[in-house]
Amino acid sequence: TNPEHSGSDLAEPYLGGLLASLGLNVHYHRARKDTLYYRDETGREVAVLDLVGGYGSTVLGHNHPALVAHARQLLDQGVPVHAQFSRHPYANDLAQRVNAILRREFGDVGEYSAIFANSGAEAVEIAVKHAELDRVAKVADLMAEIDGNIEKARAALAGGARVPADETLDRLTVARAAPPDAVLDAVTRANAERAAAAPVFLAPEGSFHGKLVGSVQLTHNAGFRTPFQSLAARCRFVPVREPDALAEAIDAERGTLFDVAVDGDAVRVVERDLPVICAFILEPVQGEAGIRPFDRETVERVQRVCAAVDLPIIVDEVQSGMGRTGTFFASSQVGLLGDYYTLAKSLGGGIAKAAMTLVRKSRYRDEFELVHSSTFAKDAFSTLIAARTVDLLEADGGAVYALAAERGARLLAMLNGLRDEFPTVVADVRGVGLMIGMEFRDQSGSAAGFIAEQARDGLLGYALSGYLLRAHALRVLPTASATDTLRLEPSVFITDGEIDRVEAGLRALLTALRDGDEAAIAPG
Ligand code: PMP
Repeated sequence: TNPEHSGSDLAEPYLGGLLASLGLNVHYHRARKDTLYYRDETGREVAVLDLVGGYGSTVLGHNHPALVAHARQLLDQGVPVHAQFSRHPYANDLAQRVNAILRREFGDVGEYSAIFANSGAEAVEIAVKHAELDRVAKVADLMAEIDGNIEKARAALAGGARVPADETLDRLTVARAAPPDAVLDAVTRANAERAAAAPVFLAPEGSFHGKLVGSVQLTHNAGFRTPFQSLAARCRFVPVREPDALAEAIDAERGTLFDVAVDGDAVRVVERDLPVICAFILEPVQGEAGIRPFDRETVERVQRVCAAVDLPIIVDEVQSGMGRTGTFFASSQVGLLGDYYTLAKSLGGGIAKAAMTLVRKSRYRDEFELVHSSTFAKDAFSTLIAARTVDLLEADGGAVYALAAERGARLLAMLNGLRDEFPTVVADVRGVGLMIGMEFRDQSGSAAGFIAEQARDGLLGYALSGYLLRAHALRVLPTASATDTLRLEPSVFITDGEIDRVEAGLRALLTALRDGDEAAIAPG
């Protein structure tokens, strides 16, 4: 219980109990760089080394002094935080800067328009809504074109043309001997039904794209997704690392419309591709699936297969972006060029809630701006904090990116050493820059009863986190959809001494797990 308030817990009351059962129910009252502070029962302040990093939002650490100073200054000078539906030159400035980074990392890829949002999930939903607006407009264009062709066909039929009986009529489910007008009516009827079909999204297995009504359907984790599946468009999850999987999925979801073509004195019924698949969405480095980067070969295949059917690609950089992997866009390291990019988390510098979606100009629909907005998005405070964050990331020729790569490599080397030392406990260590995961082998048969039980409940990573917090003052948590994998996403300012602390804590944990040492690891 917390001495600060009496009475029952009303703010997500269940979570409090769960945190307590795992030894994770501490209240941090102060934060700086990679350290969070809480007070123990005696009132003593305990410094915790934070490797969760706000689930990816603090690539520059907690309360970066320059950002705090900037925030103070903005408020002191009375910046109009909320002035929706007026000119926002600073938002344009941020969009220009991010476009310049995009050009530097990807080459001359043209411009991307920016839509602003409040969270990662909203940035994803903006991409989803925009892609659907675009798809629906394309379907409408196609339907209008077919209507025109039907009129031409009627004229040709009136002039004596005929409809050859072939297998397209079978697919249209009209008799081969049906009168021509009935065939045309059947085309119109079938198209109306097909064009109204719900769209589908494609995403790699394991994907995590948020938990709002639309975005949670793009999040593979069944626990998060399935209760809500009738609320939004369906997503098909594809094992994209398998060479033929994406092409097969596209084939399986492919839709067609009927069209008619006048060919001499024949009016033929033909089929045309209907865009049913709205977009392919992926994270360049899957975060919540257990920190799983995609390789260049997979990415090249994804791009080739999507380009062949003009399927837009949404690159979700909410967690991997903003320099964490050693470049601003993690996707640029594997040449993954998107039609959409989503940014959030560290964009707000660990202080503001800032998010944005970039849309490639060649696909951009101006009317989107009139159908999506938020009271809070693009506000002066968060947008200016985001701009200053980008300044800090870009300063000194990209020193922060170099630091992310260098610190990440050092952390990874340390973890690889532990993996080699404890092969019976550690299944894998992987990641890019400061987005690293340590996957544990199945512990459901552990001699330590507490660990075995938590593992069987799918809470292994949380139990390990509780131990690391209590025994080593380390804040580490598992990835959301792969709870056997601990995430390590500290800021670029993590020191050698702090990495040594992580090593000592993890070595103690791995030793206890290897030895099934219940006494060492179970909460007291
Ligand atoms: N996309 C990705 C790749 C994420 O990792 C997350 C959050 N873990 C989100 C979207 C959702 O972001 P938010 O929590 O800000 O809604």
